[in-house]
Amino acid sequence: MKNLARILVLCGVIGLGVFGSLALFASCSSAEAAERSSRWAAVRRAHLEIEPYCAVCGSEEDLEVHHIKPFHSNPDLELAPSNLITLCGGNCHWAVGHLGASWRAENPEIREMYQNAGARIRAMRMAWRAAQTNEAHP
Ligand SMILES: [Zn+2]
Ligand SMILES: [Zn+2]
Repeated sequence: MKNLARILVLCGVIGLGVFGSLALFASCSSAEAAERSSRWAAVRRAHLEIEPYCAVCGSEEDLEVHHIKPFHSNPDLELAPSNLITLCGGNCHWAVGHLGASWRAENPEIREMYQNAGARIRAMRMAWRAAQTNEAHP
């Protein structure tokens, strides 16, 4: 009987711990989700129509829309077009957008560093492909 009481107390403590953690996790994630704008999906899509390639390497695959000034420190710039840049998830988002250091690290000079690099590489790639096609079908 003594052991049963001990087990019940232990279960109660574990239960409180688990539910407490779950409640804390739920409140944290819902607080974060509530801060993100419901307009983000539309703004992201509009940005990808304007810049449908990685601004650094010109890739058109695995594209992500990155906040130059991050959401965690500048939530007011979440939807500002001038704060958005398309980067590829393959490498550039991490290595250039976040300095290959941390998802919390930022590169405020990314636009100046790469100017029209992505657009120019993409244009050259398209021209090269067109030339290949012409050779294949004389
Ligand atoms: Zn890239
Ligand atoms: Zn990012």
